[in-house]
Amino acid sequence: MRLRFQFRRYRLAFRTAVRTAHGVWTEREGLIVRLTDEAGRVGLGEAACLPWFGTETVAAAEAAAGKLGEWIESEQLADVPMNLVCLRNALAAAQAARASRIEGRNEARGVAALLPAGRAVLEAIRPKAEAGFRVFKWKVGVGDLADELGLFDDVCAALPSGAKLRLDANGAWDRRKAERWLERCAERPVEFVEQPVAADARGSDDLLRGLAEDWPTPIALDESLASGADIERWIGEGWRGVWVVKTSLLRDVAGALALLEKAQAQVVFSSALETAVGAKAALQWAMAWPGEPRALGFGVWPLFQDARCDGPYAAPFIRPADVARIDPEAVWNAIP
Ligand code: MG
Repeated sequence: MRLRFQFRRYRLAFRTAVRTAHGVWTEREGLIVRLTDEAGRVGLGEAACLPWFGTETVAAAEAAAGKLGEWIESEQLADVPMNLVCLRNALAAAQAARASRIEGRNEARGVAALLPAGRAVLEAIRPKAEAGFRVFKWKVGVGDLADELGLFDDVCAALPSGAKLRLDANGAWDRRKAERWLERCAERPVEFVEQPVAADARGSDDLLRGLAEDWPTPIALDESLASGADIERWIGEGWRGVWVVKTSLLRDVAGALALLEKAQAQVVFSSALETAVGAKAALQWAMAWPGEPRALGFGVWPLFQDARCDGPYAAPFIRPADVARIDPEAVWNAIP
């Protein structure tokens, strides 16, 4: 099939800098791709590259997109190099959107509210709780261990009753620090601790498995799942914890999710801080997931200074209609 291929590179400032154990992040870069068939049907996709998460750089995706040319045969999409995971993800998403191939179940999904690192967390809880959120995610491993452990008690006390807290260390702890935290988590309403130790540290797989076995609070893998190959490896190792899956960063989303479904994995679908184009595809995957519907890690909006690029504003639930209403063309048109 003959297709018109277009792409635009974006560089979007966040409304507020995102602070994690990886550092401070002030803007998002990526590509939006657009495919139009001869019947005039259009599909958009996003290459939300995140090199520190194991994907290609935006420059590499852009160079490969430039080589494709404006008119292509659909078979050419398969020739895009396998290491360009985000570009391949974007092209597959654009093809699926053009053919309206992804169908979700007709159910709303809960959303986890993202809380800021450090002391700012305390002011952030109440408005989110009043808005109806009952799952909260707090970035830890950013400040001093004793300060954060002290804050942890205040955070738990500020949560509405019945609420659950996710802690995300982004790999910042060593074994000793992780154990200090897990000891404190044991009798608190902590749903899971995400990536307590770095994925690339020596012996980190053994350490993660050990922590999962030794402590009652579930451990979630995030940075450890940087690719489909990582997902396969952890399935092979029989991981029984939680899987944080950023579908925007996977080369073959359908393949990876099929493996996770077969393994009856506990999957939490999560934002890669992409624009509404990538978020629409990611949310469609999340809505279609047949396993237990855990709260989505999409409580990130408003995210960009240019609100035209945001997904649906952070509400405690996302309904299929909210996803259907996302207009990828609005993002495309917002990029100069
Ligand atoms: Mg994480």
